[in-house]
Amino acid sequence: MSILNKVTVLSKKTIAENVYLLSFKRNFDFEAGQIIGLTNDPDIEPRLYSICSSPKDENVTILFNVKTDGTLTPPLAKVNPGDDLWITEVQGKFISNGKPAWWIATGTGIAPFYSMYKSGIVPRKVVQGGRRVEDFYFADEFSQLNDYVRCATVDIAEGHYPGRLTKYLKELESFPKDIYYYLCGASEMVVDVRNFLINKGVPFDHIVTEIYF
Ligand SMILES: Cc1cc2nc3c(=O)[nH]c(=O)nc-3n(C[C@H](O)[C@H](O)[C@H](O)COP(=O)(O)OP(=O)(O)OC[C@H]3O[C@@H](n4cnc5c(N)ncnc54)[C@H](O)[C@@H]3O)c2cc1C
Repeated sequence: MSILNKVTVLSKKTIAENVYLLSFKRNFDFEAGQIIGLTNDPDIEPRLYSICSSPKDENVTILFNVKTDGTLTPPLAKVNPGDDLWITEVQGKFISNGKPAWWIATGTGIAPFYSMYKSGIVPRKVVQGGRRVEDFYFADEFSQLNDYVRCATVDIAEGHYPGRLTKYLKELESFPKDIYYYLCGASEMVVDVRNFLINKGVPFDHIVTEIYF
């Protein structure tokens, strides 16, 4: 097991039902898109979380949703400012290569992209999938981009594509072959989109994935 470092919760903010932003003081460097292991109880094995904040921020922020039948996230949702957290060292290779890219995410899989965006990286396109309007975390900021698409599977709402993100992609005419595709979120979405892009002629090594399992 990796060495755990103790940090203190600075804030916990509810941003949607059962979805939280948790922050603590940054005492390490990282690259946008990287992950850390985190737990609020040393007896519970740390789970991995993408860092959601910019590497330049004073504090580190994590975006997580509660799995009601999960081990860590129900107690994690109950922490308060001043409580202890234990974190592992930073890891992960889901980082921008500096080339033009599309960012494709479902659920909390938007977290590494928000970190990239806040660090000054501008994507060609962002495609975000969720169920309801409130599931599009950081939509206000991503809406500043030229090409930002929200695919909502439950709510029918103005400015939202009605249906799954995969359905939206399948309706597109073509996919640039000279850019990179970053995919993050649930394994089903990541695998489906990766296979689809490969079938559309996107080179395998232009697809970068982070699966939340
Ligand atoms: C690289 C990476 C980055 C991640 N980043 C984030 C992030 O930024 N935000 C985020 O919210 N999540 C992220 N995750 C997911 C996160 O690590 C946890 O898996 C998640 O928070 C659930 O933790 P938990 O302890 O509450 O649930 P767990 O106890 O780990 O259970 C998770 C789910 O699996 C089911 N399960 C557990 N054990 C079994 C079993 N033996 N058989 C079948 N099903 C089982 C549970 O019912 C539950 O629904 C990431 C995962 C990875 C791999």
